[in-house]
Amino acid sequence: MRKVVFIIGLFCSMLVMAQDMEAIIKGERAAYEAKKNYKFKRSGQEYDLTYQQLNLTIDPGVRYINGSVYSELIALESNFTQFSFDLDSRMTVDSVHFEGGSIPFVHNNDEVTLVIPSRAKDDRVDVEIFYQGDPSVNEQNGFSFDYQQSGPISWTLSEPYGAYGWWPCKQQLYDKIDSLDMNITIPKNNKAAGMGNLIKVDTLLPDSGFVYHWQHRYPIATYLVAVAVTNYYEESHFIQLSDGDSIFHLDYIYPSYKPQADTLRWAIDGMMRGFDSLFGDYPFRKEKYGHAMFGRGGGMEHQTMSFMSRLDFDLMAHELAHQWFGNKITCGSWQDLWLNEGWATYSNAIALELIKSKKEHHDFLIKSIGRATRNNGGSVFAYDTTNVNELFNGDMRYRKGAMVLHQLRWQIGDSAFFEATRNYLKNTDVCYGFAYTADFIDEMEAASNVDLSLFFDRYVYKEGFPILSVEWNRINAKTISINLSQTTSHPSVEFFPLRIQFHAKWEGGDSIFTIDHSQAIENIILDLGRKVEELIIDPNYWNLAKYTLFEGDHSDMSAVSIYPNPAEQKVKVFVLDKKVDALEITDCLGRLVVEYEILQLKNSTIDIDVSHLKPGPYFIKVSAEGNQSTTKMIKQ
Ligand SMILES: [Zn+2]
Repeated sequence: MRKVVFIIGLFCSMLVMAQDMEAIIKGERAAYEAKKNYKFKRSGQEYDLTYQQLNLTIDPGVRYINGSVYSELIALESNFTQFSFDLDSRMTVDSVHFEGGSIPFVHNNDEVTLVIPSRAKDDRVDVEIFYQGDPSVNEQNGFSFDYQQSGPISWTLSEPYGAYGWWPCKQQLYDKIDSLDMNITIPKNNKAAGMGNLIKVDTLLPDSGFVYHWQHRYPIATYLVAVAVTNYYEESHFIQLSDGDSIFHLDYIYPSYKPQADTLRWAIDGMMRGFDSLFGDYPFRKEKYGHAMFGRGGGMEHQTMSFMSRLDFDLMAHELAHQWFGNKITCGSWQDLWLNEGWATYSNAIALELIKSKKEHHDFLIKSIGRATRNNGGSVFAYDTTNVNELFNGDMRYRKGAMVLHQLRWQIGDSAFFEATRNYLKNTDVCYGFAYTADFIDEMEAASNVDLSLFFDRYVYKEGFPILSVEWNRINAKTISINLSQTTSHPSVEFFPLRIQFHAKWEGGDSIFTIDHSQAIENIILDLGRKVEELIIDPNYWNLAKYTLFEGDHSDMSAVSIYPNPAEQKVKVFVLDKKVDALEITDCLGRLVVEYEILQLKNSTIDIDVSHLKPGPYFIKVSAEGNQSTTKMIKQ
């Protein structure tokens, strides 16, 4: 499936988290130790890959694999005679079969180049590459041999750049393999985890092992193809969905992990039901979802079979969400990795919101804000994809990406946000294919009817976040004043407009209200009709921002009257039972316009000439016997 023709960048992936997101991130990036030796792979632009079949013999106790990869492809160029696959040069290619015979090949620079008699554009070409070797030598760590408590294990984790280390593939992010089979020969007492449905298991004679036949009939990105072999035990059940359908769920678990798995594995049911109804159908409903344990920390969202270090709630939610975000729709370049990781991380927050408690949901958001704002700079968009550590930067791609989605939901509302998400996931231009950030923005704008270009520019492409100093005080028994002052953590953005929610509490009641913060320094006067005792800023953690909230000196003069208001020529100011000492008028930016010293008797009225003021809003601040009160006045 060749849906995106222009290749800009690279790759994408995912992971899990338990006590800590860092473990998830560590799991999802295959090559975090090997960042320096990254080599940009670009084989295969001359053909469209339609089918691959991996036929491999894997013994987890032996650091060696052998077998073949059969590929069917469509020529995209006329006079199609030469094409290539990515494969580590240290693997040995024994032969290449084409139309019943062997054909010449060259294997160097981690690339197998084949030569066939000329074929026309759109012709189908079938080839099978026979090869062997120790795939664990590859620096991208795509294939590992290791031990779990009860025996040896091998597993693969190809994201982002590790696939070519263990199989002849087209390592890229623009052409999904439309259909895949995996035939894995393994020693007895083992099981092989793979993609899609397990259609049969052949027993080798004389009782020396098995061949696991996995069949996957959905498009799959190269980095999402994986296999793991060890002495798993198996548990399975059907997850009932709200629409009456059900999904087959399969767990391949280490024998030593059985006690934990027996308790933990059931959490997947609620998550699957929740995501399936919120995001749209589980993308691989006709096949399965599953977990296979592996030896890396965290997890990895291999298509229909996530590899897991353990079955904790957060990790399970993250990897399951990737089946929609990452697998059904794959980032079209590694620069857009946040479309996978930001979404999987945010889905973890959604799973907590749907299944657990408001407190756990909030705790997750608080931690995400903390991680995203512990660096003054850094962007959600991954400008540097050559350094795998930086590409899988957990603070930016995972935590900040998640908070950008949460804030976007706040900005445009639940209904538009989730409608856009469902539309995105069923948009035939990108689903079961690849998407760029721009594709996602288009869906959000279409559903919300809001121009979001500046929002994404500030939060995804540029760096930093808003830092707010907020002071509030009562200016009379019913009215509060809120002074906001914003700076930003990074010079790439001067100002972040924000919708800020507040929670005001008073004796016997409370209220939630929202203000639009639209300039760096602003004063907002609000008549809430009650004597506010406590004010909480952003109680639902909607915004990616750092706040400091101060409670200023209160003035509870209950009987300040200013009238007429609006005024044209004069206003009268009256304070019950207090003598006014001073009075000042400020404009809406807080700038002093006029100041008066007043000599006045208690309970008399003061006339103030406002005829010289330009029309607009002003604030009249009255000082009387040590108390102060500010009232908004409109000059006509
Ligand atoms: Zn992930």
